[in-house]
Amino acid sequence: MTRTGEQYLDALRDGREVWLDGEPVKNVTRHRAFRNTARSIAHLYDLTHDPAHLDTLTVQTEDGTRIHRAFQIPRDHDDLVARRRAFKLWSEASYGFLGRSPDYMAAGIAGFTALPQVFAGTAFDGRDNLAAYHRRMSTGDLYQAFTITNPQIDRTRTASEQEENDLYLRVVKEQDGGIVVRGAKMIGTAAIFGDEVIVGTIEPLAPQDVEYALSFSVPLDTPGVRFVSRTSYEAGARSVFDNPLSSRFDENDALLVCHDVFVPWERVLVYRDVEASLRQWWATPAYNNFVHQAATRFWTKLEFLAGLAILIAKSNNTYQLPPVQTQLGRLLGWVNVARSMLIAAETEYEQVDGGVGGVMINPEIASAHRAMAGDIYPKALAEVKLLAGGGLIQLPASGYDLRHPDLGPVLAKYVRSPGHPAEARIKLLKLAWDALGSEFASRHEQYERFYHGAPHVYLPAIVRDGRPDLCERLAQHCLDGYELDQSPYDSW
Ligand SMILES: Cc1cc2nc3c(=O)[nH]c(=O)nc-3n(C[C@H](O)[C@H](O)[C@H](O)COP(=O)(O)OP(=O)(O)OC[C@H]3O[C@@H](n4cnc5c(N)ncnc54)[C@H](O)[C@@H]3O)c2cc1C
Repeated sequence: MTRTGEQYLDALRDGREVWLDGEPVKNVTRHRAFRNTARSIAHLYDLTHDPAHLDTLTVQTEDGTRIHRAFQIPRDHDDLVARRRAFKLWSEASYGFLGRSPDYMAAGIAGFTALPQVFAGTAFDGRDNLAAYHRRMSTGDLYQAFTITNPQIDRTRTASEQEENDLYLRVVKEQDGGIVVRGAKMIGTAAIFGDEVIVGTIEPLAPQDVEYALSFSVPLDTPGVRFVSRTSYEAGARSVFDNPLSSRFDENDALLVCHDVFVPWERVLVYRDVEASLRQWWATPAYNNFVHQAATRFWTKLEFLAGLAILIAKSNNTYQLPPVQTQLGRLLGWVNVARSMLIAAETEYEQVDGGVGGVMINPEIASAHRAMAGDIYPKALAEVKLLAGGGLIQLPASGYDLRHPDLGPVLAKYVRSPGHPAEARIKLLKLAWDALGSEFASRHEQYERFYHGAPHVYLPAIVRDGRPDLCERLAQHCLDGYELDQSPYDSW
């Protein structure tokens, strides 16, 4: 059975070590930097218990247990469509601003499980652990965070060449029943809201980096596991009215630091294996499954931005102006590009070769999607800002000014537009600023550009995997079809 929101919140009160502004956070469900977002995530869990959404969000396993659809290994196109519907429902609950809702990594775990032989490494066979891991996370309906990026210390050196040997997280020793790890990983998005964190490395490691080539998942309250939070936008929010998104959907990002953390063998998936460490993410459908969730969420977020643009244009009474229609058309075109890529990726799905009989969305379209999304998102923000003009800035510091006996009438007189009294206009533009211009908005722009890796990594990958030969062949065919001396009247 999936968890309720209350059961999820209870699990967060486990003594995990979270630091913010130089102080330990005792209880993330009560702290002003995290409590609203924790409740927003709890709401997602509650949706799985709503009879109207039960079949969209969950699926029954062979033994009768209901699990979230994202944990299921899709077997055909219908399963992919059903999974996308589940992603969409949760995405809409945060308007696309909770990037790492629990379904993201749940789909990744299903991806690992679809090709277990990747975990039969040279130094360690993680297949039984993987099966138990999938069972534990899916039947427990657990929220998996992940930190699979090494800290940005010196990108010209491999893991073992860094100035100190435990800057990037590595195994320091084996002991009875498991291993001890030390070092750091970035960026744990939503990690402090998770039940477990999986640690690994998504980028290639050098052959000499075996101590760094491991992956495991541990509960957040494991002794020695520490999270250092970035600035909290939720804590900086004045009220829900003033900061409607950052006050409720600040999923947080944190540095993971492990100080001699004991990891039992049964929680290890990959161990001292440079090949398996990379293949876990790329040879299994894990990455593709991430994109399936992310593309659904991205489509939702673009719909939201386009919706804001429409409301702003109507509020400014510019909606019918031809140049404004052009801008709206561009935005809505992007919405449909995002939607179409998703549908195409599902329609052109592929079998997972050699696995347990699963399918995945089309890998070429999946990798093109991450390039498209990183490119379009900043442009979409800029387009809506252009439409909004100075009204985005000409706002009272606090919505409560509307209730002030002297200021209220002044705002009512000057901050309005036809059909939009002051409170409605201020409400809309404060929402828009939170989405487009706030610190929260800026973090989202960086997120859409980088959460699937840096462009210098993923763009060359498209040259490698995106069937360049087909494009080259067509251009070459054209070149081969005429000669220097060819008359323009010769047929070709
Ligand atoms: C908001 C946000 C949330 C994230 N959440 C997570 C998460 O939950 N879990 C997780 O594991 N990771 C997460 N990430 C990390 C993300 O995976 C990395 O940002 C991404 O992989 C790029 O790595 P990097 O940031 O170290 O950039 P780098 O690899 O250091 O690259 C930064 C820039 O440096 C230049 N550069 C660096 N190396 C080269 C090179 N060899 N050749 C050419 N140019 C180069 C490029 O201009 C590049 O854009 C998140 C990132 C962001 C921004």
